[in-house]
Amino acid sequence: MRKKIAILGSTGSIGRQALDVVRNHSTDFLVECITAQSNYKLLIEQAIEFKPNAVVIADDRFYEKVRNALDRLDIKVFAGDESVLQVLEMGSIDLVLIAIVGFAGLKPTLKAIECGKQIALANKETLVVAGEIVMEKAKINGVDILPVDSEHSAIFQCLVGETWNPIEKIYLTASGGPFRGWDVNQLKRVTPKEALAHPTWEMGKKITIDSATLMNKGLEVIEAKWLFDLDPEQIEVIIHPQSIIHSIVQFEDGSMKAQMGIPDMKLPIQYAFSYPFRIKSDYSRFQFENFPALTFEEPDLKKFRNLAFAFDALKKGGNIPCILNAANEVVVNAFLENKIGFFDMSDIIWDCMQIIPFILKPGLDDFFKTDFLTRERAVNLLNK
Ligand code: NAD
Ligand code: MG
Repeated sequence: MRKKIAILGSTGSIGRQALDVVRNHSTDFLVECITAQSNYKLLIEQAIEFKPNAVVIADDRFYEKVRNALDRLDIKVFAGDESVLQVLEMGSIDLVLIAIVGFAGLKPTLKAIECGKQIALANKETLVVAGEIVMEKAKINGVDILPVDSEHSAIFQCLVGETWNPIEKIYLTASGGPFRGWDVNQLKRVTPKEALAHPTWEMGKKITIDSATLMNKGLEVIEAKWLFDLDPEQIEVIIHPQSIIHSIVQFEDGSMKAQMGIPDMKLPIQYAFSYPFRIKSDYSRFQFENFPALTFEEPDLKKFRNLAFAFDALKKGGNIPCILNAANEVVVNAFLENKIGFFDMSDIIWDCMQIIPFILKPGLDDFFKTDFLTRERAVNLLNK
């Protein structure tokens, strides 16, 4: 029986690689549904190739185009944000890959949990904002949240067979991004083009900028807290420029387990799809001669303040991680549009974290309100 998969965000970096995994393993997986925000051309191409049961274009201006292109195929076509949620009710879906970027991934994740679907979670922002609510809901509904983020997949893989053994600590590895070792004057003048040139991973624009500012690692620290039920003191970040060791678990006897391999997101995506099994792949293998040294260094929290902010948000809890995330989404877009510089991003995030009202025990509505208020403030600051 092939596992039937829904891919939310199929036109993105993770979505496209997930389809590649299915393409390479067509006897194991079947694409049941794909969704995209606005890239209707690629969505149509994907639909023609994979013939899913249903296709959703979230931006409904492109509905006619998608429907007409798929007219003669037996594929249901829907449009709008609500439809992205409604398709998850399809009884035929076994697993949902959440490959949407940003806060927009939250509602679909919650809906997939309500529908009792197994979840492969690439979208980290969802856990950053509402990790407690998401994990609690998953537990109640008996739903697995299988991490796709490579570091969290690594931790998850290290924990197989360790049910009874508490974690002492985890080390999340970070490449350090394209600006590792740069000085303040160089960083001030960084352009979006330079920030988009990541040394080891090829990813969507938002996460690539987050990797350059180390916010990505900050978001991952918070993501790890919720996935693995850790205290802030149990999570450490270590810069590992080669991106071969994807993360490390240290147990109470001092023993450390690491998961390694060449940086390729198809591996963690495939593992989430096939879990608990591993299936044969012919992706390139690690060559020792290409990596004579694996190196490690401390992150520089003075230059890359976003990582320090994320630790701060994690410790304070409540709606602060939601504020951090919302402000970050706004400033990353502004940076990409050349409206602000590298350090302005951190300044605006920090301002929002100080000014937006703190809520100690936020409910879901509080997160939507916090997200809205933060974006409003961040946009105001941009325009000043
Ligand atoms: P991307 O920008 O390349 O793709 C995003 C996808 O989501 C697109 O298909 C887009 O159409 C869809 N989308 C965007 N906004 C939407 C909305 N409002 N409603 C519905 N669909 C929407 O992003 P990506 O790099 O593939 O990253 C996706 C998620 O996975 C992010 O949360 C990212 O942090 C995480 N992630 C990515 C990588 C990677 O290698 N790219 C690695 C680890 C984690
Ligand atoms: Mg990652």
